[in-house]
Amino acid sequence: MAVVKWRGVIEEYATFLPVPSGSPVITLFEGGTPLLPAPRLSERVGARVFLKIEGANPTGSFKDRGMTMAITKAVAAGAKAVVCASTGNTSASAAAYAARAGLACVVLIPEGHIALGKLAQALVHGAKVLQVRGNFDEALRIVREIGEREPVIVVNSVNPDRIEGQKTGAFEIVDALGDAPEAHCIPVGNAGNITAYWKGYCQYREAGVSTRLPRMLGFQAAGAAPLVLGHPVPAPETVATAIRIGDPASWYGATAAASESGGGIFAVTDDEILSAYRFLAAEESVFCEAASAASVAGLMSVGVPESSTVVCVLTGHGLKDPDLAISQIDVPDPIDADVDAVLSVLDIG
Ligand SMILES: *Cc1c(COP(=O)(O)O)cnc(C)c1O
Repeated sequence: MAVVKWRGVIEEYATFLPVPSGSPVITLFEGGTPLLPAPRLSERVGARVFLKIEGANPTGSFKDRGMTMAITKAVAAGAKAVVCASTGNTSASAAAYAARAGLACVVLIPEGHIALGKLAQALVHGAKVLQVRGNFDEALRIVREIGEREPVIVVNSVNPDRIEGQKTGAFEIVDALGDAPEAHCIPVGNAGNITAYWKGYCQYREAGVSTRLPRMLGFQAAGAAPLVLGHPVPAPETVATAIRIGDPASWYGATAAASESGGGIFAVTDDEILSAYRFLAAEESVFCEAASAASVAGLMSVGVPESSTVVCVLTGHGLKDPDLAISQIDVPDPIDADVDAVLSVLDIG
């Protein structure tokens, strides 16, 4: 049987992406991620729920979809260096794709607030990592100014190429389901991804690939919910560090997606996020990031009409932040290396 190989989102969706012809495509074969049915979650919310497993991307988050575009375009433009601010995953992805392209990569991260796995990734891929004493919003402000003053390309989602690449997630969902879902649940931080998914769904609808558009349901952490409150949050706080953002760059994109689709942006508490995080791991066998679980926490909290087809995007892999996972469970004390000692603490037989 002939095996059709996945070639990464640029090659797979070339007709929908503004890629310059003749320049090399920088790809790690991102995208093509599973759309996994979630039977227990479906039962719980009374709908047909699928999980888009974005942790299966090469660097473990959806950021790779946008980064293949941003770095491919940076190379085409003759850039020598890229720069980004990051809560972690953007820096991991930028570092990997920049290394592949032979570009220098500088990342600014908020001190003390990024998961160790993400920091490790940026470092092993050879990025210059600078921790700033400030939050993500402050780091992004600095990066944008550097982008204006120096000959470097900013690869945050303020870069429109990132949005172009990320919209391929919507294409894959429609390709897998045969049409758009009725509701699309997604965590919202800097709001690039909800903007990108909405763009992807709209383009497929206009091209006649799908017959309908989903309601876009975006979820922010309650301690970092500027779009819900209607104003920036100066000191955002949440356990879900990937969405710990107080002044989203794609503010308008997110609110437009919510209102044009008849959806909305809602807040979920850290307790709800962590409860969904544990549920996904224990009941659906999907280990995702805390931020990712906001989409499922949101679905559980706002609900959807009975029997609707729903997709929740699980944006990143749980292994990025093992400290958080361990903090959520009781790790048993060591015991003697002896059969009876083992059996005495087990409830089997
Ligand atoms: C970046 C990120 C988000 C937030 O996406 P935005 O486009 O900033 O809204 C959510 N979850 C994870 C795991 C991320 O890396």
